[in-house]
Amino acid sequence: MVNVDKIALVTGAASGIGWATACLLHDEGIHVIICDNSKDNLDSANTKISKENYQNMSSFYADVSLEADVVHLFNHIKKTFGRLDYLINNAGIDSFCDPQSFSISKYNHVMAVNVTSVFLAIREAIPLMRNAKEASIVNIGSIHGHLTTAGRSDYATSKTALIGATRSLSLDLATEKIRINMVSPGAIDTPMLLRGWKRKASNINPNEVRNRADAIHPCGRIGQPEDIANAVFFLLSKKASFINGVNLNVDGGIHSKVFLSTIWDDQ
Ligand code: NAD
Repeated sequence: MVNVDKIALVTGAASGIGWATACLLHDEGIHVIICDNSKDNLDSANTKISKENYQNMSSFYADVSLEADVVHLFNHIKKTFGRLDYLINNAGIDSFCDPQSFSISKYNHVMAVNVTSVFLAIREAIPLMRNAKEASIVNIGSIHGHLTTAGRSDYATSKTALIGATRSLSLDLATEKIRINMVSPGAIDTPMLLRGWKRKASNINPNEVRNRADAIHPCGRIGQPEDIANAVFFLLSKKASFINGVNLNVDGGIHSKVFLSTIWDDQ
């Protein structure tokens, strides 16, 4: 059994927000296990792990939407470390949905990755977190759980579901002395965002799309993965020990803005 001070699992961590979170936790002295279901992303994460000499980071292949993979992953954590201090349910997929022609298998897949995976991971984590002193979980939601656009009903449904789940689970898990909170990112500069932009605005120069996206944010920029990692780290930490069952929007303040500018051409 490996003897380390704190152990974290970050799901979907071979890219974007998950990777930035894994790096921050590692730099804070936490042993981090990253898992992902993309072999390509895992290969490049493994290359960075050895290049940067991240000795306290290890990777594991798992599709968190599959019960067998999640059970296998947590058996590995149990065997290697015997407990888990922090769980970051970050794995997620973006989706666009036409309510008149959607496919039920695609809809079910979005729910399996974005919602069911969180339940599976928490079920398997509870026995391992009982052995930790200040266990804490953060779910990654989305601005689409609060404010959304047309064509995103499956994704928005999945992320809104996490708000209710986080709230109710905070009551269930309190009896186990496990805190659980949620971070809802706005537009964050990751491969997922860039894929979405490409799909929606393939005819517009990518620099122009970025300038427009920066400009609509009250703080003048879209977010970076590190912005989310910092919020996650705060919620996991002792400094947040009285915070439980909440959602934290990390979106540069865009949820506060009413888009009257499209009518009045003002701020
Ligand atoms: P990303 O695509 O850059 O990274 C996501 C990672 O999760 C990828 O490596 C992918 O392979 C992995 N993954 C996907 N499905 C998986 C599965 N079933 N099992 C294991 N791993 C899986 O995306 P990102 O932007 O870093 O997104 C991370 C989270 O943040 C997601 O939950 C996403 O919905 C949420 N989010 C992102 C943004 C944004 O603007 N980037 C905004 C709001 C919310």
